Amino acid sequence: MNNTWYDDTLINRFGPNEHLTNNYKCAVLIVGGGLAGLSLLYKLKKNNVDAVLIEENHIGSGASGRNGGFCLSGWAQDYDVLLKYLSKEEVVTLEKIAASGVKWMKKKCLSKGYEHTNLQSGVLKCFLTNNIEKVKKHVIAQNKLFHQNEEFLNKENLNKYVCSDKYTCGVFRQDSFQFHPLNFMHALAKDCSKMGASIFENCKFVSYQMDGAKINSSVFNENEMVNIQSEKIVFATGGYGGKEIKDLKSYWLPIKTFIGVTKPIGNELQSVLKKPLGFSDNRRAGNYYRVLPENRLSWGRGISAVGKFTYSNLKRAISKEINYFFPELRNVEIDYVWSGNMAYASHYMPYVGSTKIGNEEKNVFTLMGFGGHGMNTAPGSAMVLADFILGKNNKYEVFNRFRRKWNGGLIGPYIAEMKYKYLQMKDYFDVA
Ligand SMILES: Cc1cc2nc3c(=O)[nH]c(=O)nc-3n(C[C@H](O)[C@H](O)[C@H](O)COP(=O)(O)OP(=O)(O)OC[C@H]3O[C@@H](n4cnc5c(N)ncnc54)[C@H](O)[C@@H]3O)c2cc1C
Repeated sequence: MNNTWYDDTLINRFGPNEHLTNNYKCAVLIVGGGLAGLSLLYKLKKNNVDAVLIEENHIGSGASGRNGGFCLSGWAQDYDVLLKYLSKEEVVTLEKIAASGVKWMKKKCLSKGYEHTNLQSGVLKCFLTNNIEKVKKHVIAQNKLFHQNEEFLNKENLNKYVCSDKYTCGVFRQDSFQFHPLNFMHALAKDCSKMGASIFENCKFVSYQMDGAKINSSVFNENEMVNIQSEKIVFATGGYGGKEIKDLKSYWLPIKTFIGVTKPIGNELQSVLKKPLGFSDNRRAGNYYRVLPENRLSWGRGISAVGKFTYSNLKRAISKEINYFFPELRNVEIDYVWSGNMAYASHYMPYVGSTKIGNEEKNVFTLMGFGGHGMNTAPGSAMVLADFILGKNNKYEVFNRFRRKWNGGLIGPYIAEMKYKYLQMKDYFDVA
């Protein structure tokens, strides 16, 4: 796997100072060192739970350390869709969880030890539609329902932030922000470690067996199999989990998405992106981009469930997209390009809670499926699951509304790919 721009600008790497020993015992074993697992570890440790985290590679080596770096409220699924099958109260509860994730992340980014997360406030969603009135009405309705203050921008006001003749209007979210996600992950791991949490890297969870009230897990570490005994397990394996998560593997799909970072660009970047915000567009298969230090442009785009890709193809696809929106930048070269896995259930919502409904494995939990919107929803959901594990409340029950749905087995990825192509086509005709 090639280096990401985040790898090359990582400051203050977290380094575990402990080795995993055989027959290790703990109360809660968390599998996966992404934002979901790490924020859960943080909350449990804060409440004096003997929780331990293992990670197959390094902290943040999954999606959490290689994403677009946007943190904004909401979920991978749109509220308009959720409102079709959930009650208003349930949707408001979900938004509260999503917003609490943004708040928690922002507070952390601004605290001591997190300076290198480089928080920049403000995310602007740009629309390609001709139905501007519909966007305006939608903003008013969302603000009323969720007590938010999203700001509608007409074309003239939008041009003060971004200049592309493809966009017709925009929605500005001041409370949202962008940041360096890998530096965040390492700062959070250090924070957990300072509270006495054990974090083991290069430890692959292989299997588990129930033994009365205890769970015995086999973990592969430094060329040998080690046993960990715990009372509970939480799988926070994102889009990287395999057969070790048993049946759960059949209820989501790993979907890839891609990011390119350009070489440093001169002043022409500020002539099109006038403010240092995070920008995205309204298409389901849209772009998300922002300015990085040295005047580089980070550009995220596309998803694929099956597609094979080469780095040169990816660079070409990203350049083409930049050129479509900003012809002024057509000669800009792409320096870095990478992909990452996201876990998607067919309803686009996460699985949070017991992996099985019933008693037999009630102490085996899942915290995964955040899709392309995990930087707020993963920590928001982790806090809710932690409260349940701590016996504080049952708020997590709202997630039982998202039943596990089979992923379609071997043909599942092809169905997902077709769905994506359909959405791309729809995006195209909506604009044309
Ligand atoms: C390119 C890209 C851009 C994105 N952009 C954004 C964005 O701008 N904003 C946003 O909100 N979201 C974004 N997302 C989505 C977001 O990154 C994810 O939703 C979020 O990081 C999921 O966190 P996680 O902890 O569930 O999974 P991950 O971060 O993937 O962590 C899972 C971890 O589990 C480990 N693991 C798996 N199996 C095992 C095992 N058997 N034993 C031990 N460890 C194991 C993996 O190695 C991995 O480190 C993006 C995703 C990608 C890929």
